[in-house]
Amino acid sequence: MAMDTQEWLDLLNAAGIAASEEEILWVLSNTPAHELQDRFKILLSGGQGTGEKPTYQRNQIHASLIWDQLMQRMEEDQPEPEWVPSLPEFAGELITAGEALEMAAWDFGKVRRRKPAAVLRPAHTGDVASAIQFCREWGVGLSPRGFAHSAGAQMQSRRGLVLDMKSMSKICSLESDYGESSFCEVEAGAGWDVVLKAAMEKGLTPPIVTDWLKVSVGGTISMGGFGFMSFWRGTQMDHLLELEVVTGTGEVVRCSSEQNSELFDAVRGTHGKFGIITRAKIPLEPAPEKVRLVQACYGSLSKMLDDFEVYAQERKTDLIHAFAAEKNRESIVTKMNSTETLPFEDASIDAALSNIKGEWVYNLELVDFIGGPHDGQHPRVDESALKCEPGLAASWELGWEEFCFRIPPLVLEEQYRGAAPHPELCSWVPMDSDGRKLLTDEFERLHPEGDTGNGPVLFFPLKTDQVTPPWFRLPTSEYCLFWGLLRRADPGTPERIAELMVDNEEIFERILEIGGQRYLPDTPPETASFWKCHFGPLWQKIVRSRMRWDPDGVLGSSFGWHSHSRERKPDDDSTPPSSGTP
Ligand SMILES: Cc1cc2nc3c(=O)[nH]c(=O)nc-3n(C[C@H](O)[C@H](O)[C@H](O)COP(=O)(O)OP(=O)(O)OC[C@H]3O[C@@H](n4cnc5c(N)ncnc54)[C@H](O)[C@@H]3O)c2cc1C
Repeated sequence: MAMDTQEWLDLLNAAGIAASEEEILWVLSNTPAHELQDRFKILLSGGQGTGEKPTYQRNQIHASLIWDQLMQRMEEDQPEPEWVPSLPEFAGELITAGEALEMAAWDFGKVRRRKPAAVLRPAHTGDVASAIQFCREWGVGLSPRGFAHSAGAQMQSRRGLVLDMKSMSKICSLESDYGESSFCEVEAGAGWDVVLKAAMEKGLTPPIVTDWLKVSVGGTISMGGFGFMSFWRGTQMDHLLELEVVTGTGEVVRCSSEQNSELFDAVRGTHGKFGIITRAKIPLEPAPEKVRLVQACYGSLSKMLDDFEVYAQERKTDLIHAFAAEKNRESIVTKMNSTETLPFEDASIDAALSNIKGEWVYNLELVDFIGGPHDGQHPRVDESALKCEPGLAASWELGWEEFCFRIPPLVLEEQYRGAAPHPELCSWVPMDSDGRKLLTDEFERLHPEGDTGNGPVLFFPLKTDQVTPPWFRLPTSEYCLFWGLLRRADPGTPERIAELMVDNEEIFERILEIGGQRYLPDTPPETASFWKCHFGPLWQKIVRSRMRWDPDGVLGSSFGWHSHSRERKPDDDSTPPSSGTP
């Protein structure tokens, strides 16, 4: 018997799919019933999962990718929503057709596609506030977007309004006294490259630098923003003097740890769900003159982790990161975050290639500051004492700016191999014996080409007590490590993407069992149960904060809340609220 709209709505929502009534009506009238039932038969046969598990079931993942495809057909066919011609005048540029809308349908992950009906490039905070007011009145979903380097549609808004914050990228002020009170105030759409360049003109630097500077200030504060030095000083969320925020009610508020601190806590690390950050006041400090890098190659994960942990926990260097790659000559000789090669002897490389069991090698980078306030706090790294493969460690020096502007492997990979979907798993693994065992088991199981598509696999250490936003979920261990399984789906078919996403969730269940957590610019499930599990005891606070800062659910489309355009006129009270109930 054919299912009615409500039955489809219940089925899809139970599977974590953000389907609205309008969308279902369109699908029902444009897709032959047998085709629809065929596509979703696995859900119809009761395979959508119980909702008790924190993660997606295999069938839900398949179904959500199929739904996105149906929605693409709908977007091509539907007229623009009724609210679009009613958008007010903005000082910034408003785009309602063309290539920019298609661009805003995608992110770096290229897994989920959600095309907005309009993109606003705001000129100033007033534009952001007016856009929010409009969206409240019309029940339109709105998403702030930085450089869209997340991989799970976190900044997308199907048939809604996207605020392309890159248009707000000015340095508003930069005060430099070379002491403790240097800072810059910057518009939140600026990339960290803009901040670093402006700071370096005065010999200064922000305290935390990410491994890629073409990510926005507002985007990383909303996600976390760890960097090479997170094992002793936390994240970009922890080094802020003040933020300017437009809340989901359209109010412009300045907040800090002392002023409006509840909002300050609510907006850091919460994906723009309670407000849009429009400005950030960031402390600056004297930059090191240069850095001394040591890179070492290991065939044993355990030996690499020995050095990684000792250098992090005893703070024996200033910057640390590592990555795993397929065992081959190129992985051994290539400088990390670069295409240059290291001057290793052929005999050492050949010996490593024949002695290393398994399919992986692990490269570790330890970096000492030279000059600046942190120089001299420990002896320089002695590469001859590392547990790496014989003859496979080298050191060299670089200027600070040159170091910061290196290109991380994910970007290099896209440049050389072309764009592909990246269904990513990013997690915080406790730095303890359980964490080590988990990583050892996973690297024994995973094949670099077959399971990750040779996408990069990254490690960064973090000291958990340095991270201050109360809603940012981390393991309880003193140290943990960021483990980024940045898989590449090649071919990028829905089947291959779903297969990799399912494996991500199975790995994540094992990470949860040992007290690990998720870092969420990756490709997470979209079910409410996933998000409830993620926030755990904090969930009720999250729900209350939403009622306070975004009562109309304008900033939905994550945390299992789905914001849809209601496509109604402001005076029409008959339509239900735009977002799913948390
Ligand atoms: C090559 C590469 C390197 C990366 N390196 C790092 C790294 O070193 N450290 C790290 O922590 N992460 C890193 N990431 C992960 C992640 O993409 C970033 O943490 C962050 O999302 C990037 O900022 P963005 O400008 O691209 O934000 P987007 O991906 O555009 O947005 C991220 C989230 O923040 C929201 N948002 C965007 N702007 C605002 C705003 N002004 N106010 C409120 N909410 C907003 C969006 O709606 C979305 O939910 C990297 C990703 C890639 C692809």
